[in-house]
Amino acid sequence: MEEQDITRAQELIKSAQHIVITTHRSPDGDAIGSSLAMLHYLNQLGKSAEVIVPNNYPKFLKWMPGNDEVKIYENDREAGDVLIAKADLIFSLDYNILSRTFDMSDSLEKSSADFILIDHHQNPADYPTVTFSDTTSCSTCQLVYDFIEYSGHLELINDDIAQAIYCGIMTDSGSFRFSSVNDRTHLIAGRLIASGLDHAYIHGQVYDTNVLDRLKLVGHALSNKLEIIDGSHTALIYLDRSELETYNYRPGDTEGLVNYALSMEGINLAAFIREGNNEVKMSFRSKGHFDVNQFARTYFNGGGHINAAGASSGASLEDVISKFKSAVSQHSQELNFG
Ligand code: 5GP
Ligand code: MN
Repeated sequence: MEEQDITRAQELIKSAQHIVITTHRSPDGDAIGSSLAMLHYLNQLGKSAEVIVPNNYPKFLKWMPGNDEVKIYENDREAGDVLIAKADLIFSLDYNILSRTFDMSDSLEKSSADFILIDHHQNPADYPTVTFSDTTSCSTCQLVYDFIEYSGHLELINDDIAQAIYCGIMTDSGSFRFSSVNDRTHLIAGRLIASGLDHAYIHGQVYDTNVLDRLKLVGHALSNKLEIIDGSHTALIYLDRSELETYNYRPGDTEGLVNYALSMEGINLAAFIREGNNEVKMSFRSKGHFDVNQFARTYFNGGGHINAAGASSGASLEDVISKFKSAVSQHSQELNFG
């Protein structure tokens, strides 16, 4: 983070009258964590802000302090549009291009506000006034911590900020296991814990709040739907709407499923494909140098990171699966490693 960008961002915060914090569609732990951490940090600076997220998110993220203040755009578009139109400063957190906010993007594109982007995805767009983009960072929450530290405000980090930041770092780093984790990630976690953060509580809220239906859905997916694509070191799980309905699917229930497929020895690419109401959602994960960000971009107009990416499609589930299989077959050489 450049000093001049920090200074510029702090000036924008100082002079702003109406601040809106936004994040990507289908918010995950890093999206909600960074948004709420920023909200509490702005509050510490004596600023109020609105957090608007495109759509609903899983129950296992609804325990964070400030959760009740989060507005869900899809539930009340008019109210969201009014807040966005009124804003003179908008934060783009954990996304790199306005289309990731889906239905909110029209309204955001029309806005004349200054934008501050804090994100760790590749290829950030150039709409923001100030961009803090670091694709080597394990999470946007780590970058929010960096922003607070480099602004000279570590002493403003209270328990609300700490909980939100820890949640985002933990969830986006696979509980501190991905290669994006570095000494600074642990240093930040250590400092938060030293200040009194109850990390076991956060882990429990996120990972130990399953319901029976969710585990049965995971069981069904692994027992009956996991397939290996011969010769391509690839594993695939897909679920159609009726299977999801059988287990009373709720957003977030299939989170992490794709990692089981990738955890197999000899598997270098894993995909989870889910039929939604109006679209098919894909999650891609890889090991080593196989770049799923590029893969998702090339074949499905998606994106993400080198080892974790996603996409959505308006085509049928069947068509998406056959397109996926034919795409994979074109990379079987590249996937033959390890
Ligand atoms: P997930 O598989 O957990 O939904 O997403 C994995 C990664 O890919 C995340 O970093 C997420 O931001 C990105 N991603 C997921 N879906 C999409 C998508 O539809 N478009 C783009 N550009 N990125 C996505
Ligand atoms: Mn993230």
